[in-house]
Amino acid sequence: MGWTATLFSLMLGLLIGHVGPRIPTLFLTRTRGFNTHFEPHPEAVNLSPYVTQRVLHLRMFYLTSFALAIPLLTLGGMSLKYGSGWFGIGLWLSTGWMVLTRLQSLVAGRNPPWSKSLAYDLQRVMNQASSTKQCCSYTIPIWRGNGIYCKVCGHLYAPIARPDLGRVRSDGRIMGTLRLLMTDGYPMMEAASDIIKNEEE
Ligand SMILES: [Zn+2]
Repeated sequence: MGWTATLFSLMLGLLIGHVGPRIPTLFLTRTRGFNTHFEPHPEAVNLSPYVTQRVLHLRMFYLTSFALAIPLLTLGGMSLKYGSGWFGIGLWLSTGWMVLTRLQSLVAGRNPPWSKSLAYDLQRVMNQASSTKQCCSYTIPIWRGNGIYCKVCGHLYAPIARPDLGRVRSDGRIMGTLRLLMTDGYPMMEAASDIIKNEEE
């Protein structure tokens, strides 16, 4: 096999191994019909049970990536044995890397972009906003890029940076998909708490 064909097989394997396990996160909720309860991207989102539910769905898609890794690793193994070795190596490298980095978050390192504790935090803010401890009489909690604020008085409810919420991205389908592949759903902004911390230092 010539070096161009080798390189092509390797790149194709890397690409399929990288995109494959992420397909649910990349595409399943990205049609308008799925996002009627949300403000269009990149606007701030009003907190509601729909947002909490979306976080839980995205968490499920995130976990699905482990299940999708199994057929990809199997295919990679079969390619190594019977077909294009470089394609198999590419598949193994990118899928294996994804599994390792995502498993590592269970032990140490950063948490997944969507988690149960994030869903609890959102619920907690909504409870707080409807309790007597609210910041102003007409409080509306909204989720901006770097935290959850009161839309009316600007009070910071929770300094939680907003991960991707599965909305149709404003940068278009192709750029939006590329950006998601790069950020892996993690927030594009620093959390408000980190900004405060950095300023104090
Ligand atoms: Zn307020």
